[in-house]
Amino acid sequence: MPAKYDAIIIGGGHNGLVNAAYLARAGKKVLVLERRHVLGGAAVTEEIFPGFKFSVCSYVVSLLRPEIIRELDLPRHGLEILPLDGTFTPMPGGDHLWRVNDHARTMREISRHSRADADAYEEFGKAMLQMCRFVKPILSMTPPDPTTLNPRDLMKLLFLGRRFQSLSSGDRYNQVQLMTMSAIDFLDQWFETDVLKATMSASGIIGTFLGVRSPGTAYVLLHHYMGEIDGAFRSWGFARGGTGAISEAIAEAAREAGVEIRTRASIGKILVKGGRARGVVLENGDEIQADIVSSSVDPNRTFLRMIDPEHLPSEFLEEVRRYKFRGSSGKVNLALDALPEFTCLPGPGAHLRGAISISPSVEYMERAYDEAKYGAYSSRPYIDMVIPSLTDPSVAPPGKHILSCFVQYAPYKLKEGPEAWELKREAFGDTVVDTVAQYAPNLKNIVVGRQVITPLDLDREWGLTEGNIFQGELSLEQLFFLRPVPGWANYRTPIRNLYMCGSATHPGGGIMGAPGRIAAMEILKDRGAR
Ligand SMILES: Cc1cc2nc3c(=O)[nH]c(=O)nc-3n(C[C@H](O)[C@H](O)[C@H](O)COP(=O)(O)OP(=O)(O)OC[C@H]3O[C@@H](n4cnc5c(N)ncnc54)[C@H](O)[C@@H]3O)c2cc1C
Repeated sequence: MPAKYDAIIIGGGHNGLVNAAYLARAGKKVLVLERRHVLGGAAVTEEIFPGFKFSVCSYVVSLLRPEIIRELDLPRHGLEILPLDGTFTPMPGGDHLWRVNDHARTMREISRHSRADADAYEEFGKAMLQMCRFVKPILSMTPPDPTTLNPRDLMKLLFLGRRFQSLSSGDRYNQVQLMTMSAIDFLDQWFETDVLKATMSASGIIGTFLGVRSPGTAYVLLHHYMGEIDGAFRSWGFARGGTGAISEAIAEAAREAGVEIRTRASIGKILVKGGRARGVVLENGDEIQADIVSSSVDPNRTFLRMIDPEHLPSEFLEEVRRYKFRGSSGKVNLALDALPEFTCLPGPGAHLRGAISISPSVEYMERAYDEAKYGAYSSRPYIDMVIPSLTDPSVAPPGKHILSCFVQYAPYKLKEGPEAWELKREAFGDTVVDTVAQYAPNLKNIVVGRQVITPLDLDREWGLTEGNIFQGELSLEQLFFLRPVPGWANYRTPIRNLYMCGSATHPGGGIMGAPGRIAAMEILKDRGAR
């Protein structure tokens, strides 16, 4: 007799695990099936070289929803967030910009570049706080669809409209500008210092195939800023043990609630009969039945690869095909013998404990994008680095360090085609090391191990279509009630009992857990459990 579950979750990334934990806590018999040998998806820790435990993909945690930490009691299951303090931006001429959590120090530092910008920074911080307060409740709700007359959606729209009205008129204008402008146009309204604008605009391009001057990037800046706000009083930093420790803590909470988890279990097909999901078929042919199937993988993989098209309306399939991935990021993880020494601020100071950003000017950032537009990786890329081993020595052998480099732009679609990444991987790795070495010349002599992850690797190994780190771009036409496709942003699908619960659903990518949690609420609502 084949096994039967109440719910099967496709994928053991952090959202799939959150989804499973909430369903099991509501009394469901749940099975999580993960394709890889290890849980976590893009939130994973792996020992790539002996003693060096890399946060292979995602590397900092900022957005994890506080209600999930609380409700799943994640600290009891091993979650510990260590603070990440500030952003250090080395500059080519020997100067630098170093913003820290200590407000007074940051004011002094920005004044060194421009007194006017120090004043504006204060005002900017207050305005962004208001924007985040407005947007934050939306992160925990199923997005209301303004095109329907559903009373539940109308109530939510009314709630949001009232919140919008309660903002000051200046904040209302800011909100609209944030939704429409480019990161640089938005920042230009506040600041004059080039390096400050360049380094701040970087949060606007992460995971997108857009440049800092492309409209829409101001919203992505806000998406990442919400974590920084949390960071001031809550959890912005490193997970002890790497980002895989977050997934492991969630997995522990899920197991405690009774969830069964299998790794090396790749799903080939979703079983559909009579317009209803009935279970899954693994790549090895095993069939497992369930009343509910909840997919934490992206719409491309879920609908175009796991389901026969005859089960889906053609207009829906058309929307799924239109959903944009356009991966633009790579990752280079370095095992180091010693710490990098920056020419502009030598020595092992506190500036190495936060983020280190290679974003020296607005022109540098935009030029990096120019190359990607024509199908090449940036010869001088934007790089966001951290050295987690300084804060959490457990991730490297004594006296050794890890330098994690998140890199843009590394377009999935190289002009020679995505397969060309196989030939360009090491040259791309060299470009990243050479770029950082311009600011920290000792780097080349202290690298003892190097892992280069291309967007092709993200697609093939992590199941992120076209290597998009957020399971689909965070561009305006793919957000809120439009994510993943118009009419289906409520975690349901045209197939009954088949749900979506990963980053391709609202509120999108990042180690947030929100899609997994909200999807569980919707599933339980349909089952009459809530
Ligand atoms: C390089 C990189 C850097 C990033 N940096 C950060 C960061 O610093 N901070 C941050 O907050 N976010 C970051 N992100 C984004 C964040 O990691 C992701 O948005 C998030 O982890 C996605 O979680 P998820 O559970 O929705 O999906 P995923 O993590 O994609 O999980 C989906 C799971 O499904 C599995 N799967 C796929 N196909 C199948 C199948 N056929 N059968 C069974 N299982 C399958 C996959 O193996 C995977 O484990 C980064 C992402 C990347 C790639």
